[in-house]
Amino acid sequence: MHVADAIVVGGGPAGSTCAWKLREAGLDVLVLDRAAFPRTKLCAGWVTPEAMADLELDPDDYPLSLITFEELHLHWKWFTAKPKSRQHSIRRFEFDNFLLQRAGATVLHHKVRKISHDGSDYIVDGQFRCRYLVGAGGTACPVYRELFHDINPRSHALQTATLEQEFAYDWKDPTCHLWFFDDGLPGYAWYVPKANGYINVGLGGMADQLKQRGGNVRDHWSRFIDKLKIRGLVNYDQYHPKGYSYFLRGDIDVVNDGNAYIVGDAVGLATRDMCEGIGPAVRSGLLAARAITAGEAYSLVGINKFSGGGLASKLLERQFAGNRGQ
Ligand SMILES: Cc1cc2nc3c(=O)[nH]c(=O)nc-3n(C[C@H](O)[C@H](O)[C@H](O)COP(=O)(O)OP(=O)(O)OC[C@H]3O[C@@H](n4cnc5c(N)ncnc54)[C@H](O)[C@@H]3O)c2cc1C
Repeated sequence: MHVADAIVVGGGPAGSTCAWKLREAGLDVLVLDRAAFPRTKLCAGWVTPEAMADLELDPDDYPLSLITFEELHLHWKWFTAKPKSRQHSIRRFEFDNFLLQRAGATVLHHKVRKISHDGSDYIVDGQFRCRYLVGAGGTACPVYRELFHDINPRSHALQTATLEQEFAYDWKDPTCHLWFFDDGLPGYAWYVPKANGYINVGLGGMADQLKQRGGNVRDHWSRFIDKLKIRGLVNYDQYHPKGYSYFLRGDIDVVNDGNAYIVGDAVGLATRDMCEGIGPAVRSGLLAARAITAGEAYSLVGINKFSGGGLASKLLERQFAGNRGQ
């Protein structure tokens, strides 16, 4: 039996951040991930300065692909707004691996299935034992499924549906574009240039709303790639987009039970206006680590529900929400 002080299930930004801080405090930490790193993570790879600060990462010192945008181009019908806003793009394939390596924990390639108790310890798949267990396995996190599903049910009304693709492309327009609510999409589509000749294009929206409107992400995708072509942004003929679903921040704040914790997408923490998940995942990893090492209560109070502020965020949230009544 492999014994560690803490086991973190999932090595994405939530898990690696938690593991990093637990290691700094001197705990013996084991990260279990079903994927071998570096691994592909479907994500546009937009990272806020706030998330970089939480990660104690200076964008100028980050050694892998990173672009800084000083403004965003936000399109809605025939309007375009160009708010000044410093944001970054990274490639998740690189970024997540970098963070996990930096954490300094033992990492094993293992798909977690079953969690049981032995006194105050947790036993994972009959092979791993720990005092502290952190569920950072994303939407399908087994710690969430086995220990938190009943006490923190995630609302289907807050579930997203997405499609995206990241590929090598000699892009000419270095701007980050977002198109909101095209053709009734309860969400937005994006064009995010990446450093070193990559691009990420995709779209996402609220799954329930999409269904109620009789749409699906594949139809929206077809229209979106036509639009990219017509606008002269991307002319590409080898699309094979993939989808992933994750949850926006709900109203239930049960993220700790005994010495078990859940963080990031396992909770469903993406912001309710922009569906930003990396920053909240990182922040929750920090807070869970602090709870374990300093005995502080772990709650979601310090994690932003919105990426922006004010009226615009509220309007976006309402557009995404439709009549879900959340
Ligand atoms: C298409 C798309 C675009 C997005 N764009 C952005 C964006 O631009 N900016 C942003 O901030 N957010 C974005 N998000 C959201 C963001 O990607 C997530 O919120 C974020 O990755 C959550 O991090 P995490 O560490 O909780 O989970 P993840 O990054 O998903 O990591 C979970 C890890 O757990 C592992 N795992 C899963 N099951 C098991 C198991 N049974 N056993 C062991 N390991 C397991 C997985 O292999 C994975 O490595 C996007 C999401 C999607 C789908």
